[in-house]
Amino acid sequence: MSNIMEYQMFINGQWTPGLSGETMEVINPATREVVATVPRGCREDVDRALNSARSSFESGIWANKSVEERAKVLMDAAMLVVANKERLAQLESLTSGATIRRSTTVDIAEVAGTLLLTAMIAKEMPKVEHTFFSPPWIAPMHSFWKREPIGVCAGITPWNFPLILAIFKIAPALAMGNSIVMKPASITPVTTLELAKILSDAGVPPGVFNVITGPGSSMGNYLAGHPEVDKIAFTGSTEVGKQIAGQAAETIKRVTLELGGKSPILVLDDADMEVAANMCLLGFLFHSGQVCESGTRLFVPSSKQDELVERMIAKIKKMVIGNQMDIETDLGPVVSQNQLDTIGRYVKVGREEGAQLAYGGRQLTDGIYEKGFYYEPTIFVNCHNKMTQVREEIFGPVQCVIPYDDVDEAVAMANDSIYGLGGGICSTNASRAQKLAARLRTGTVWINTWHVLRPDAPFGGYKQSGYGRECSYHSLMAYSEVKHICQDLTPDGNDKLMSLLIGSNR
Ligand code: NAD
Repeated sequence: MSNIMEYQMFINGQWTPGLSGETMEVINPATREVVATVPRGCREDVDRALNSARSSFESGIWANKSVEERAKVLMDAAMLVVANKERLAQLESLTSGATIRRSTTVDIAEVAGTLLLTAMIAKEMPKVEHTFFSPPWIAPMHSFWKREPIGVCAGITPWNFPLILAIFKIAPALAMGNSIVMKPASITPVTTLELAKILSDAGVPPGVFNVITGPGSSMGNYLAGHPEVDKIAFTGSTEVGKQIAGQAAETIKRVTLELGGKSPILVLDDADMEVAANMCLLGFLFHSGQVCESGTRLFVPSSKQDELVERMIAKIKKMVIGNQMDIETDLGPVVSQNQLDTIGRYVKVGREEGAQLAYGGRQLTDGIYEKGFYYEPTIFVNCHNKMTQVREEIFGPVQCVIPYDDVDEAVAMANDSIYGLGGGICSTNASRAQKLAARLRTGTVWINTWHVLRPDAPFGGYKQSGYGRECSYHSLMAYSEVKHICQDLTPDGNDKLMSLLIGSNR
């Protein structure tokens, strides 16, 4: 894949250039080489895509199909994802910096699994629920209710897991009969465009699935506020999520927000230190720390801090940092110069605020690292919960260790955050861990593991980490309205109810 690939947008079942004629470059973060170009979309492209989504929805070409028919298309798409796994994984790694070992396994399985499981769950959901119960003051009635699509959905995704975060929106939207317009992040749009081909080949009709590309600040902003959008699903920063929630209020759009995080790991005094070291490394180094639910506030008993950090450092020293396309690589580059600069800034602030650097703390620039965006795994120790780098999301391979002496105090510190996405407990005592899990104010709690997102389990945040849930039947609820139909079964209409309105002697 050495040639520059030229992509177009996907609107109304057609590949189409942007109306401005301008393009944007997509680079490989390991080499800074341009690997693809995509159209730099403008507002008129948003209008075109939304018109096509609206027309397809109103035509009923997809919405009126049975759930079984739609599920079959999604299952066929899952098979096509698996059949194209090498191409998809290569492109995902090339543009986002994901290690090829991860993208070929985790990402492909998650994408195909989400399509499959969402389709199966949609089929198993009750189609109609009903009651014949009638209170004594009304005549016999039949009430039934069923789920209907919301209409036109917009999905806006970030750069860290382009494929997975797109499919978390696409699968439930399509399963419930909606039409959707996706806008991927400007720096990683390629694999969402690849999904357009797969979904179209699987049988999604023209106009039902559209992908537009362009800058978030202009095009994404216009999409998010557009009156033609009935539902918006956004994954990205809390800052932009707040703007989107505000824009959505104007036309009361349905909204799901998956936003930032600063997830706490609580290592208990009974933890197995080897398990803890693995869990804590997984928590903050997976995808070089560029994961919304990364475990980046590590609470550890004071007496165990040194041992745990020594174990972690010993393991880090064995890790291979390098080009993400190499199967031996454990840690790839971060996604962009911008991200590299952000990490560097936070590490500087951490030092200035008095956190002790136990490992790392620098950009890697020599030899194979010369051209890419590489940052060394970094561990700060003896932090406290008020430090800037402990409170704010860094989105890089930086761990902040906070020693504690009292577990209740550790829980209070863990919950003292504007975020509430992920959390974790490391312990050998299962019931103690579960009791503490219940006290963490986060959407997911992992015990002795991290980063496990399942297509059949809900994922989302408390507090400023967002609202709504992706995955599982919860996501199908988020892409549908419920309609109650109530029918009077008496031959002459509801005399009893009428007598409440008009006295019986009139
Ligand atoms: P971002 O908020 O800058 O951008 C996300 C998307 O929104 C991109 O497609 C971007 O083009 C678009 N966008 C930017 N400004 C916009 C605007 N004003 N209106 C509409 N769209 C706009 O986030 P990012 O830097 O791409 O990603 C990193 C952030 O995403 C982190 O904060 C991370 O925690 C969060 N994230 C959250 C989850 C989750 O599931 N909770 C998952 C991954 C990433």
